[in-house]
Amino acid sequence: MSSQRALRVAVVGTGTMGADHVRRLRNVISGARVTAVVDIDAERAKSLADATEGCTAYTEPAVAMAAQDVDAVLIASPGPAHEAALLEALSRDLPVLCEKPLTPDAASALRVLEAEQKLGHRRVQVGFMRRYDAEYLKLKRLLDEGKLGRTLMLHQQHRNPAMPAWFTEEMLINDSVVHEMDVTRWLLGQEITAVTVHKPAPSAQAPAGMSDPQFVLFETGAGALVDVEIFGHCGYGYEVHAEAVCEHGTVRIGDEHGPRVSADGRWGGRVTPDYIERFQDAYDREVQAWVDATRRGEVTGPGVWDGYAAAAVCEAGVLSQREGRRVEVELVERPALYR
Ligand code: NAD
Repeated sequence: MSSQRALRVAVVGTGTMGADHVRRLRNVISGARVTAVVDIDAERAKSLADATEGCTAYTEPAVAMAAQDVDAVLIASPGPAHEAALLEALSRDLPVLCEKPLTPDAASALRVLEAEQKLGHRRVQVGFMRRYDAEYLKLKRLLDEGKLGRTLMLHQQHRNPAMPAWFTEEMLINDSVVHEMDVTRWLLGQEITAVTVHKPAPSAQAPAGMSDPQFVLFETGAGALVDVEIFGHCGYGYEVHAEAVCEHGTVRIGDEHGPRVSADGRWGGRVTPDYIERFQDAYDREVQAWVDATRRGEVTGPGVWDGYAAAAVCEAGVLSQREGRRVEVELVERPALYR
């Protein structure tokens, strides 16, 4: 599809991310408008549709996707609902931006991979938005330039002030560290081959039944070592850092948010409270890039292979977390469509 007309988008799932994407499509993004919102919570969908001109509320993703005024789908329902929505969209050959994770496990991700291959062309972009963050893009450019030599290690920290009550220990890996899995694969251009999860003595702020923080070690195809500190309840704000250690230098990102203020005999800055604020620009760039590519009839950005590879690493990570041992990642051969 190559179109001068605004892309007519159905947003599936209207919770935190879905509502934020509707606002973004309405107020920030050019070349698109929201014509359908879908939520199993009918009230939530209706109130968002009522606030959005020319938008209809649905409770069934398949019904919205069949509507005449829907050209593309943005999936922002919880991970376990993604597979059904993705398969429905692919069966209709509709372009999709699917929030991470593609699906919660490797077997279901593989079914999506098979469905897209059957279609014969790529239709799905996965919402790994850090690839659109200005600081990550600078880091990627520096590593790709090659002046610093090979990347030997990557140190990463991912800290949240607190997690919702329903957030499980497994989700530290497959909902949070999944972002570091994707940026590691993207920055280094290598697959992750093994995962080991270590658990230090838990913080007193960790909820009952959750060991928090955790220390995750990835091994990669070309022998790099990558560590991730995931801290779900650090209490003070939302922080994401990454430091690449290369043969001829190091690069660190994640420290430059807002002005550094010196006053009253002190200096300091502000820590962003949450991911919505920290990655706001990245979400904007991600959705604009998806709309632009879709209107050109193209798919750019992370795709189903990236979603599947991340799901396979998550599976190894959760097993390592449970059994306290190093677990190798099992991947199928990369299909031609994704090479
Ligand atoms: P949420 O719980 O706030 O919202 C989910 C919404 O989906 C709810 O309104 C729920 O009623 C609705 N829903 C549930 N099942 C549905 C179905 N089958 N069909 C349609 N609607 C359904 O969740 P959230 O925090 O907005 O997360 C949504 C997705 O976004 C998840 O995949 C999550 O991992 C992802 N996410 C991504 C980022 C990021 O940084 N990229 C950050 C947070 C969440």
